[in-house]
Amino acid sequence: MDGFRALPSVDQLLTGAEGQAQVAQHGRAVVTAAIRARLDAARTAIRRGGDGAALAALLPDQIEADLARQARSALRPVLNLSGTVLHTNLGRAILPPEAIEAAAQAMANPLALEFDLGGGSRGQRDDHLRGLLCELTGAEDATLLNNNAAAVLIALNTFSLGRETVVSRGELIEIGGAFRLPDIMARAGAVLREIGTTNRTHPRDYQDALRSETGLILKVHTSNYRIEGFTAEVPAPDLAAMARAAGLPLMNDLGAGSLVDLSVYGLRREPTVAEAVAEGADLVTFSGDKLLGGPQAGFIVGRKDLIAQINRNPLKRALRLDKIRIAALEATLRLYRDPDRLAERLPTLRYLSRPEPEIAAMAARLAPQVQAIVAAWDYACAPCACASQIGSGALPVDTIPSAGLRLTGRGGDAADRLSVRLRTAPRPIVGHIRDGALILDLRCLSRDDDLLSALALA
Ligand SMILES: *Cc1c(COP(=O)(O)O)cnc(C)c1O
Repeated sequence: MDGFRALPSVDQLLTGAEGQAQVAQHGRAVVTAAIRARLDAARTAIRRGGDGAALAALLPDQIEADLARQARSALRPVLNLSGTVLHTNLGRAILPPEAIEAAAQAMANPLALEFDLGGGSRGQRDDHLRGLLCELTGAEDATLLNNNAAAVLIALNTFSLGRETVVSRGELIEIGGAFRLPDIMARAGAVLREIGTTNRTHPRDYQDALRSETGLILKVHTSNYRIEGFTAEVPAPDLAAMARAAGLPLMNDLGAGSLVDLSVYGLRREPTVAEAVAEGADLVTFSGDKLLGGPQAGFIVGRKDLIAQINRNPLKRALRLDKIRIAALEATLRLYRDPDRLAERLPTLRYLSRPEPEIAAMAARLAPQVQAIVAAWDYACAPCACASQIGSGALPVDTIPSAGLRLTGRGGDAADRLSVRLRTAPRPIVGHIRDGALILDLRCLSRDDDLLSALALA
């Protein structure tokens, strides 16, 4: 078989100029493996009748491309032009620079995580944030968990293990993936006591359900859907009075849990954490990486005695936060102490409150430059109006007027093909397809050049 003789040896490829440069960049083991894999493939092709010399000529480029692909992080940054600001599959909130700096410091240095520097004794890792959270929410105490799902899980397990949790049928939510309230309850060891109906739940439904087996009354903010029409729910203050009279804790799972009134920024009002506390909930749970705009985390704020019980639950250790995120959260929460500058400094709020005319001006500016790039791929680009969503289940029925670029090409699958091309580029671009066109919503694009340089690589 002469074809095989046309192939270089592993050693020849490794010691050539290109091979040496590759070894310097990627390391000998990785380069050797890439060479072996391509040589194996070439031998298989020759056995099937392939031309050895032609296959050998392809090897250097193939190996170089394989190495470049492997070196690219699977978690490399993408441009979120999907129109969903808090995109769960794209990692939700972008952190403010202050939080990034704090996280970097926490990664690089020892820190007094569970150490009281003044007294030299052991401290609690949640202590660093407790004061800030109480200040911002009006609650007595606070505890931190891995995410809001963990916050709900540990609260159910603490107060309702082997006992009943009373919840309205209108609030038995699924928030996506495997987080369905009845399933979480079962895993927490709580007995679900559903009351009322999908659209209407009355005070007497709660009254009738409360008995000696009850451990917790749960109210869930139906953040990702809305029940409209012939509806009734028991207002939180009334529920709080009922819980108090029965001597039972009331927990309000807010989900997105904003710390500020979003209507100030032209968005629809969501209940704030401080409001939920003021309405009398004994415990309020919410996420760190939704409207709050920080890293993934879950918070429970509320009554001191109840928070102490949660902190004594052995699950707390399994669901606790790490130092990197605690540091980032502290820096994020500090920004809330200066509400006047919050929308400038917190990326989530900056994106959500960005005025449509500013985005439209960006689209008008970018359209001809993007047109010049995509024309080479036989696509056309024009500015367009579009509608952004908050995402992560917050205000799902509401959209925010936005602007973007509309990319169209020939053939029924043109938008799909372009979408794949942009998503798999070295700097991936994620848009969304509407009416046969690929729409790039520019709400979350900070600088024109970010898009132009990403497109240049695609
Ligand atoms: C998002 C959400 C959760 C889960 O929060 P994570 O931080 O994603 O774990 C729980 N309850 C409600 C109502 C939510 O909206």
